[in-house]
Amino acid sequence: MSQTNIPRHDWSIAEVEALFAIPFSDLMFQAQTVHREHFNPNEVQVSTLLSIKTGACPEDCKYCSQSARYNTDVQKERLMEVEKVLEAAKVAKEQGSTRFCMGAGWRNPKARDMPFVLEMVKGVKALGLETCMTLGMINGGQADELQEAGLDYYNHNLDTSPEHYNSIITTRSYQDRLDTLQNVRDSGMKVCSGGIVGLGENAQDRASFLAQLANLPKHPESVPINMLVKIAGTPLADVDDLEAFDFVRCIAVARIMMPKSHVRLSAGRDAMNEQMQAMCFLAGANSIFYGCKLLTTGNPEANKDMQLFAKLGINTETVATDDIDTEQKITTAVVNQQNKELFYDAAL
Ligand code: SF4
Repeated sequence: MSQTNIPRHDWSIAEVEALFAIPFSDLMFQAQTVHREHFNPNEVQVSTLLSIKTGACPEDCKYCSQSARYNTDVQKERLMEVEKVLEAAKVAKEQGSTRFCMGAGWRNPKARDMPFVLEMVKGVKALGLETCMTLGMINGGQADELQEAGLDYYNHNLDTSPEHYNSIITTRSYQDRLDTLQNVRDSGMKVCSGGIVGLGENAQDRASFLAQLANLPKHPESVPINMLVKIAGTPLADVDDLEAFDFVRCIAVARIMMPKSHVRLSAGRDAMNEQMQAMCFLAGANSIFYGCKLLTTGNPEANKDMQLFAKLGINTETVATDDIDTEQKITTAVVNQQNKELFYDAAL
């Protein structure tokens, strides 16, 4: 292993700023070198994200269309029925996804929500997909329940630097985020944690944010780096754009600092042209999200991604799955659910 990619957990902000400052070509070369020591550079992992409960969130994240505090176009939706989630997961699998991520706009799941989300985890897992959830803050007991149900990953983003955090969210603390990540780790689940750039933070904040992630006792297995999607009605609707090269630098620095993690190109990818996405892959991004559009007729977004992969000679990463009859598994899961209450207003 080269000296450039021994995983470290003791980054100073100054060291990270120094990485950001090296000439762009040198940074890309260093990131690509680290990337090739741990991954096939021509493989990208594909996850599908489904919102299982949308809107009416009590938190005040200033970038988010789901916060009940802002007047956005998002329609509040109750917790999805388990069977609908499983049908969506089946489509995702057929479209090439290997991981199915289920997200709920909650501050934290309540006790009454847990039986439903646990059924979702069990059902999706039975389809042979990796499972991921993002439900807000969870305590140790909830983390254990999710792990026992078969949840592979829990997503909980640090969002930004500790220094910039209070400018973005006031309804919870940075320490709350770290506590949930610790609960996830303690349960044995894998951690998916990253953040958003373009939140009006400065360059030092971006360095500090990546230092927080890399200095966790264990690097998150998955590190989503999002470019802010500006949503009308949210307080950050008119924030200045982040320079595109600064975003690519973030990907490259994340790759160098967390050499064995999957670095995910997440929100904001829709707004990037093919060349920008290719540059992010060169910088070490090796995971993407298909959004909910995957699940609609025609799947134009999925087709566009596959065309880009073909142009770049990229294959989708596969995971080992057992020989599962998908149709049968869905039928079984739905039958198991048929006498249960499937739909209720989890937003209240
Ligand atoms: S907790 Fe999640 S859903 Fe709620 S406002 Fe923040 S980002 Fe949005």
